[in-house]
Amino acid sequence: MWLGVITLLPEMFDAVSQDGVFGRALAAGHLQLHCFNPRDYTTDKHRTVDDRPYGGGPGMVMMVQPLLAALTEAKAHAPEHSRVVLMSPQGRRFDQQLAIQSKEDAGLIFICGRYEGIDERFVSDHVDEEWSIGDYVLSGGELPAMVVMDAISRHVPGTLGNQQSVIDESHLDGTLDYPHYTRPENVGSKGVPQELMSGDHNRTKRYRRSQALQRTLERRPDLLTGRVFDPLDRQLLTACAQQLGPHSVEKDGEKKQDN
Ligand code: SAM
Repeated sequence: MWLGVITLLPEMFDAVSQDGVFGRALAAGHLQLHCFNPRDYTTDKHRTVDDRPYGGGPGMVMMVQPLLAALTEAKAHAPEHSRVVLMSPQGRRFDQQLAIQSKEDAGLIFICGRYEGIDERFVSDHVDEEWSIGDYVLSGGELPAMVVMDAISRHVPGTLGNQQSVIDESHLDGTLDYPHYTRPENVGSKGVPQELMSGDHNRTKRYRRSQALQRTLERRPDLLTGRVFDPLDRQLLTACAQQLGPHSVEKDGEKKQDN
C-alpha cells in the first residue's frame, strides 16, 4: 500500500518509520510512506504556508497554494484513484471497520492540518473524506495520521508476521479481545486459568470466546446492541449475564450516564 502524507512536520514520521510493526512493513516493502512538505512548494522567500483568517479571530490558517502544490506532487507519485483524507476533529470517527475497508485502497494521501486549520476552499475542492480519531482537539494532524496508518497497516497482507493476530483482536467482530497470559505460571498469588493449561484446543477456544463476550458485556455493552449471535455465542452470553447478575447491562449503562 502506498501512503502519502502532506505535512509541515515530516520529521515526526521518523518516529513510526524506523521501528515496530509499521517500520518493519516499510522495510519489507509491504508499505511505502512518502511525506510532502507544503513549505517546499511555496513561492515567496519566507516560505509562507499560513496567513491570518478573513473576518479576524485567533490563530492562522493554512493557505491553499502550498497545500495544492504539495498534493499535486503527491498525486503524481501515488497510485491512480488514491483517496485524499483530511485529518480533522470534524470528520467521520475512525474505527476498526474503516481501517479494514481502507486496506483495499492502493493508495491513501493524508492531509495534516496545523494552526486553526485549512482554508475551506482547499477542503471543498480537493479532499475526498475527513476522518477524526476522537472528540478532542490536537495541535496537528500528524499524530492522527500515524494512528490511522498504523491501524490500517495491520490489515495489509504481510505487515504482521502472524495474520491471526488481527483476527482475534478487539473490535474485529464487534467484541473485545480475551485476556492474555504468559510465563511464569504463577505471579504472586495468581495462576493461569485452567482452561489455558489443559492442552485441549476446543476448551481453550470456548473459554477465550466466553471471556471476550463477558468483557464486552461488562465494559462495552453498547457494542453488543442489535447484533445477531450464533447459538454458541448466545449460550455463552446467557451464562456470562447470569454470572454477572440480572441487571449487569443496565447497571453498566447507568454507570456510564452518571460519569
Ligand atoms: N480549529 C479546528 C477545529 O476546531 O475544528 C481545530 C484545528 S487543530 C488545532 C489543527 C489540526 O489538527 C486540524 O486541522 C487537524 O488536521 C488536526 N486534528 C486535531 N484534532 C484532531 C482529531 N481529533 N482528529 C483528527 N485530526 C485532528
